[in-house]
Amino acid sequence: MSTASTRRTKIVATVGPACWEPETLRELISAGADVLRLNFSHSDRERHAKTIEVARVAADEVGREVALLGDLPGPKLRVGEFKDDVVELETGSHVLLTTEAGEGNEKRIPVSWPGISGALHTDDRVYLADGSIQLRVVAPLDGSVDTEVEVGGALASHQGLNLPGADTGLASVDSDDLKWVDFAVEHGLDLLAISFVREASDLKPVIERLDSLDSDIPLIAKIEKPEAADHAEEIIDAASAGIMVARGDLGIELPLSRVPVLQKRLIRAAGLRSKASITATQMLASMVTARRPTRAEVTDVANAIFDGTDAVMLSEETAIGQHPIEAVRVMDRIACETEPDLPYGDWLFGRTDQTGQDVGDSVAQGAVGAVYRLNLAALVVPTTSGRTARLVSAHRPKVPVLAISPHIETVRRLNVLFGVQPVLSEPVEDIRDLLDYCAALAARHGVAKSGDKIAITAGLPEQKLGTNLFEVHRVP
Ligand code: PEP
Repeated sequence: MSTASTRRTKIVATVGPACWEPETLRELISAGADVLRLNFSHSDRERHAKTIEVARVAADEVGREVALLGDLPGPKLRVGEFKDDVVELETGSHVLLTTEAGEGNEKRIPVSWPGISGALHTDDRVYLADGSIQLRVVAPLDGSVDTEVEVGGALASHQGLNLPGADTGLASVDSDDLKWVDFAVEHGLDLLAISFVREASDLKPVIERLDSLDSDIPLIAKIEKPEAADHAEEIIDAASAGIMVARGDLGIELPLSRVPVLQKRLIRAAGLRSKASITATQMLASMVTARRPTRAEVTDVANAIFDGTDAVMLSEETAIGQHPIEAVRVMDRIACETEPDLPYGDWLFGRTDQTGQDVGDSVAQGAVGAVYRLNLAALVVPTTSGRTARLVSAHRPKVPVLAISPHIETVRRLNVLFGVQPVLSEPVEDIRDLLDYCAALAARHGVAKSGDKIAITAGLPEQKLGTNLFEVHRVP
């Protein structure tokens, strides 16, 4: 298995028609995609099942495990179908949002949610197509809403519709989402993202469904509602894997100008709790059509990395863009160029909560600190559930973290964590054998060479303390 990349920041690439052919997916993984996102808001089960199959084969051929992340749609309102798939809405024109069935056009936009006329009032604003189109409500009518187009643009079938501030009363997780949870378990997905979470209890239906299926797929809560930002700490505690800073909807539901500060606050809050964060949406948006990103986009990606994000995400850039592979390569280059300047020393003592009594966390911090005094080449973390790797990663070690596990699910899931190179290992019972094996794997995967010092952290099961062992080892 190849672990050649020295990049620490992880790249999440959304799969869509632009990259779902076997050859392109292979190239996407070779270019550096660590996590492939399947957006369940688009495409049907059959299509996603095919993508999963193709992605697993592609990862195998490249020789690197990737994580497959299923993204549950949640209660996102969407417009219906248009003749020829796209309509152009003219600024100043009137358009009717209607719950009546039938194809839409530039005068009438079908919306399947019956509550729309009751939820809107004169002068409310409605946003379409990720906020690029703005409508003003002229009058809610019976079963439809008369609106004026304040900012026009092209609207495609099934694009999103946002009503900032309106209480739609829709549950964060509905029966359709739960069917996607079943699908995720059936197809062995590695991570699940939950959309439009408002508070920690919104995760409960998914957790209960996973429990009932005897599954422990880690959860990522998407923070894209103002209520979620207000309850971020409890949500992070409830989401086993971490959060996504879903800037697309966040920038519609809240004033756009608040997004940068919120991004920093959310990434910091996730870091304090040793949970992962993914920064998402429009990171390299111009690359949907252009071969090169703008300076501002490159700086945005670098700044998210300086904020301490674990992963940066590509959406349309890889799903429907003209340059999906180049977009991943660009992200890879930005991350590699940025990472040497990160404040690793400050992060060691300031990034995570320093007050807890958790043995694993304390050992993890000790191991990351020892890198400096002992000039360690790498940290090697044998891990069953992946928890120790997560705790080590949270302290942002300056050297590679080789996380080794005999569990393929764990190996795949760890792909979302900053600095962690997960590899599949043999199960080794004897602790001395395990330590020697860790050193051998560090050499084999190129994170240390003969004569280098490495540190190994592991848990001795009989102590029931989690990760309680720390050994400095010279690579033979
Ligand atoms: C977002 O809103 O930023 C986001 C990632 O969500 P989605 O792409 O599912 O709309």
